[in-house]
Amino acid sequence: MKIVVILGAPGSGKGTVAARLVKSLPLRHVSTGDLLRAAAKNADTPLARAVAETMRKGELVSDEIVGGLVVEQLSKPGPGCEYFLLDGYPRNEKQAAFLEAKLAEGGQKVAKAVWLEVPQDVLIGRLSGRRTCPQCGAGFHVETMRPKVEGKCDNCGGALVQRPDDAPENVANRLKVYEAKTASLLGWYEGRGVLARVNGVGDADAVAEAVAKAIVE
Ligand SMILES: [Zn+2]
Repeated sequence: MKIVVILGAPGSGKGTVAARLVKSLPLRHVSTGDLLRAAAKNADTPLARAVAETMRKGELVSDEIVGGLVVEQLSKPGPGCEYFLLDGYPRNEKQAAFLEAKLAEGGQKVAKAVWLEVPQDVLIGRLSGRRTCPQCGAGFHVETMRPKVEGKCDNCGGALVQRPDDAPENVANRLKVYEAKTASLLGWYEGRGVLARVNGVGDADAVAEAVAKAIVE
């Protein structure tokens, strides 16, 4: 089992890349966001119950619990799975150290950390152009994924909105927060000789292919 961490700012296209990799490699995509939502919904293990309880109180789930959920997933790879793609974890050096220690208990380590590199101005364009349907959750983009009728959802006809997070004044701040938290991770994985930088600008298929190449190398 090869454990791969994918790193990239909001808008870097990690989700898009992961969706393509799942089809081209024997790979499981483990997104922390999905894990937390599933745990809160099912509350079927002690960890999952802790997540449900924490989220019910509106509190932030601790690093230890998130790390525990991730490690729990690593112990059940699924048939034919050769790669684990961790997305959304670790987010900082403390979590990276936790993950490293946990993996070491099982004689494992992060084999590769792929950094999806996208310049700041491109990220801002991608994020601030997003439009979301509040009724069904579908996502669009004013330039790259236009709805058939401007301002209306293709699926349900709902009026598209810009999430507050994606408003230009908030986008710059989100990116700053991300960079402050995550920049040190690049150094962490670079120091361990496992960092691969991939250009995240351009055709999504080509980007996914470049990431796949970095993973199997
Ligand atoms: Zn809709």
